[in-house]
Amino acid sequence: MRVLTGIQPSGDLHIGNYFGSIKQMVDAQAENETFAFIANYHAQTSGGKDLSRFTMQAATDFLALGIDPEKSTFWVQSDVKEVLELYWILSSFTPMGLLERAHSYKDKTAKGIAANHSLFSYPVLMAADILLFGSEVVPVGKDQIQHIEIARDIATKFNNEYGDILVLPEFRVQEEVQTVPGIDGQKMSKSYGNVVNIFGEEKKQLKTIKKIVTEQVALEEPKEYETCNVYNMAKLFLEGDNLIALQERYKKGGEGHGHFKIYLAEVMWEYFREFREKREYYENNQNEVREILKAGADKARAVATPMIEKIREVTGIKY
Ligand code: ATP
Ligand code: MG
Repeated sequence: MRVLTGIQPSGDLHIGNYFGSIKQMVDAQAENETFAFIANYHAQTSGGKDLSRFTMQAATDFLALGIDPEKSTFWVQSDVKEVLELYWILSSFTPMGLLERAHSYKDKTAKGIAANHSLFSYPVLMAADILLFGSEVVPVGKDQIQHIEIARDIATKFNNEYGDILVLPEFRVQEEVQTVPGIDGQKMSKSYGNVVNIFGEEKKQLKTIKKIVTEQVALEEPKEYETCNVYNMAKLFLEGDNLIALQERYKKGGEGHGHFKIYLAEVMWEYFREFREKREYYENNQNEVREILKAGADKARAVATPMIEKIREVTGIKY
């Protein structure tokens, strides 16, 4: 199966990114043909602050978290510019209404993030990312499902006109993960400033975790765990008996949310230990990261070129 995922270099990666998409991709590498890219053009839609630094950082983080350039095709979006040409071509197969209904755009504008054309047409570029590489499966968080559906709609319209050229992608959402809550209980998002970073300093991590919004319950009282933001983050790092033990602590009472927060910080620190070590290596060897990205772009272009050639031909752009 051909699996593709992208991530925006729009800030420090957070645990929602990890469980919603990166981990699924790392796991998929064993048995699939995997494509992973840093979506730097996409990051421009929300300001593109410190873009070049964040691009290298995202690449470093991806490698540390287990993207294996031997197994995956791993590149930076802007290094394979064919995607921009496809984006334009697909724009003519994208009804305005399809984009006007996009939740992600509506959510961002509702939060006061100024709307520009790129934020609005983002799903078309995302469709180009997916369709250029003939992706069959796209692992995403719940927030991105609609964008995959938009990509399918666009591909269907294109294929109706020109024949079976584009592969219709399917989304894959990890049921247990879906949407990781942020410290305010809303969807954890880089652009909402409510994240718990994967690679923060230990003290800062704890400080952030201490800010997680919880319900006010007296120390001795039992506490709800299903609806608790701290529990819903902690459960991502726990399995089996450890998870049940945490549930018991909630049910029993006698401990406050402060205790659960300290526990969350500990399990999280342990979980990412090995990744932190790997990250340090890549941080000290940024030239190696650049070489990996360059080789990855060449690999990605080898797939993109025949596809865009075929599309140029059928659409008559080639003359
Ligand atoms: P931004 O605020 O800039 O949109 P983001 O934090 O939403 O950033 P993206 O780069 O848009 O991150 O998303 C990368 C991947 O991470 C996508 O597959 C997305 O579905 C997933 N993802 C993002 N946030 C969460 C979350 N809170 N829970 C689960 N998955 C998530
Ligand atoms: Mg997002």
